[in-house]
Formats: sequence, C-alpha cells, structure tokens
Amino acid sequence: MAFIVKKFGGSSVADAERIRRVAGIIAEDYRAGHKIIAVLSAQGDTTDELIEKASELSGKPPKREMDVLLSSGERISVALMAIALENMGLPAISLTGRQAGISTSADYSSAKIERVEGSRILRELDNGRIVIVAGFQGMDKYDDVTTLGRGGSDTTAVAIAAALHADKCQIYTDVDGVYTADPRKVEGARKLSEITYDEMLELASLGAQVLHNRSVQMGKRYGVEIEVLSSFTPGVPGTIVKGAATMEKTKISGVAKDTNTARIAVMGLADTPGIAFRVFNEIARAGINVDIILQSIGRDKTKDISFTVPKEDLQAAVATLEKKKSELQYSAIDTNDAVAKVSIVGAGMMSASGIAAMMFEALYDAEVNINMIATSEIKISVLVRETDADRAVDAIHRKFFE
Ligand code: ADP
Ligand code: ASP
Ligand code: MG
Repeated sequence: MAFIVKKFGGSSVADAERIRRVAGIIAEDYRAGHKIIAVLSAQGDTTDELIEKASELSGKPPKREMDVLLSSGERISVALMAIALENMGLPAISLTGRQAGISTSADYSSAKIERVEGSRILRELDNGRIVIVAGFQGMDKYDDVTTLGRGGSDTTAVAIAAALHADKCQIYTDVDGVYTADPRKVEGARKLSEITYDEMLELASLGAQVLHNRSVQMGKRYGVEIEVLSSFTPGVPGTIVKGAATMEKTKISGVAKDTNTARIAVMGLADTPGIAFRVFNEIARAGINVDIILQSIGRDKTKDISFTVPKEDLQAAVATLEKKKSELQYSAIDTNDAVAKVSIVGAGMMSASGIAAMMFEALYDAEVNINMIATSEIKISVLVRETDADRAVDAIHRKFFE
C-alpha cells in the first residue's frame, strides 16, 4: 500500500469525458489498495474566463474578490470529480483549500502556503475515501480565501505530499514529461527521464510553465520526489524531478523562453559610488523584482543602467524612477516591452567550457541580436527582441540537442 498525491491540470479535467478518464486513473490506484489524494485545477480555460468576466465589470477589481472568484474554478472541478467517482461506486469526497487545512500568507493572487493542517484529509483517508482537493487556493489569517498565483495547483499538490509524508507526488498534465524545450513549440524537443530540483527550478522560473516554480522549491526543501506525466497516456513513464545525488550531470538540460519581461534603461547617471544602490533601492521599495542588470559607461563620465522587470511592473517601475528624477539626476529613461528572455539551463555547465560560446554562436547563425546577458552557475539568459525569441529557442535547441 502506498500513499499517493496525484495532481491533474486544467486540460486533464476540461470536460466530462476527461473527468471520467481521470476518475479511471484514480480508481485503478485506489482499487490496487493505495490511499489517494487528488488535487485538481480548474477546468480548461476557466480561470482565464473568470478573469475576463471580472474585467468586463472593472478595470481594477479588488484583489480579495478576484481570489474568491478564481478559487471557484477549482471548486467546480473537485465536486464534479467526486460525483464521477461516486457514480463509479467509489467513495470520494471533495474538499476546498480551506477544508483541506491549507493556510497561506495574506497576499491575494500570490499567497504562499505556510502550513497544511492535514487532520481532515487524514480522517477521510482513514474512512477509506478518495480525497479530492481544490488546488491553487488556501485561507489566510483573516479567514479570507487566497490563491497561489497562476499554475499554483502544482504547489498545492507538493505541499500536501510534503506535509502528509506521501510516498509519491505525481503531476499529470497534457505532455508526458519535462522536455528539453516546450514540446508544443520546438520540433525535436526530447523528454528527460529525470532532472534535478535546481535545474527544474531554473527552467520553471525562466518560462517553462510545466511546473509552478514554487512547487519545485517546496519539493526540494522537503525532499518530495515529483513525477511529471500525462493523463492522456497513462502508463507511459514521465520525468522524475529529484535531488542531484543519484543523477549524472548533463551539460544542458533545457531551453526556455519568457516573454513576460520588459527592459528599462536609465541613462546619463553620475558615475559615482552609490548610484546603483539608489536606483535599485527605489525599485525594491516599490515591490518590483529586477532580473537581468547591465551597467555601461556612457559619454561624459556618465553611466547607463539597464535592467529587466516583469511586463506588468513596467509602468510602476518607470513611475517610481520619474518621481525620483531630481535625486537620481539621470538624463532620460528608455523602455522596451517587445523583448523576451531566452535561457539555457544545466547543472553540468559549470564544469564545461564553451557553453556560452556555443549559445552565442547559435544566435549568430540565426541572426538574432543579443541585448543583454546574465549568467549563473547553472543558467545563461539572453534578452532578445520578442519577435526573434522563437527562432532563438529553435537555433539554440538545435545546437545543443541535434
Ligand atoms: P496544466 O494545466 O496541466 O498545469 P500547463 O499548461 O501548466 O499544464 O503545463 C503544461 C504545458 O507546459 C505543456 O502543454 C507545454 O506546452 C508547456 N511546457 C513549456 N515548457 C515545457 C517543457 N520544457 N517541458 C514540457 N512542457 C513544457
Ligand atoms: N487554475 C489556475 C490557473 O489556471 C491554477 C492551476 O491551474 O494550477 O492558473
Ligand atoms: Mg500548470
């Protein structure tokens, strides 16, 4: 007997037929004698449709109400799944995030799971039931519903697996594993049989939405092995995300693209100590995350500082800097939101030379201009024109994987 957490994404529960198929996957494990918790996402495009409904009524809907609204998508899925299972003669019960004991921080739309109080789930399992939990949601200390950010159901699943010491956490989606690049977009993308938490975390943070990045962080912290597999081809082995100890290091494990980025250049700053501190201190105080940073010396003993922020923070970042123009004394601000970040990730690159040169050669061959570069021990990112991004990913992928 094993204790298994299974998570099914939106496309896996999009309609009645798919819910029945997923119920079949759950039933098979349940009948084999396992204890099953299934975490579900909202059906298909439900979350996007709910956002659209709110935007028909307000340009700036209150965040609290948005979380109440969006959490309803997952409630529909879990109730329907419990209905389908009961109809097959299997005992099942649906639980909302709150009923499942999921406590979060009080940040609407991007709450962090702080605690899973698992007694209700455990009691239902002890009663022989299949427990179906609404993903992506929890409850904050004010007794309000919160959501975990887009793609957050993965994190619900890993958090429950960690808190209740499940034997396995399986994330079922619409592709049968983690690939070297998005298999829907890049021809020749290859499935990885395994990947380390660190590499997966970089890939997820750099644009590969196959796993929510916080789910990977949580898996790493609590040692939960995560398997990514397809609900459409059950039985086909997926990708295992786990610690590095038992794994051979590949040089490069994947290529990712992130179009949710914008570049800001602050030009004509004084070339004196403390300037970078003052610029980024203002940005940080506005609660904005900065990613790639580039500093260059301009003419007349001035310097320019360029950096990237998420697209949705561009206006706020510019407004912050404009408010401080007299203190920061720059000459101009330039912005560009038609950019994308293309990255390669691999734990083996730190011990291999020439990886950056290979990446840049691929971009040169594809005639893609590089605007900015950032590196860490296990990744290299470049900022390119948004219209060049797919070509860049293809060229880089071909260089490393063909
Ligand atoms: P779910 O609704 O099941 O959570 P998501 O849409 O969040 O599914 O994630 C699955 C999608 O992630 C796939 O359909 C695929 O297009 C995309 N994806 C992006 N990069 C990768 C990658 N490196 N490997 C696998 N899938 C990827
Ligand atoms: N339904 C939410 C979303 O679309 C959460 C999830 O699917 O994981 O982002
Ligand atoms: Mg997802």
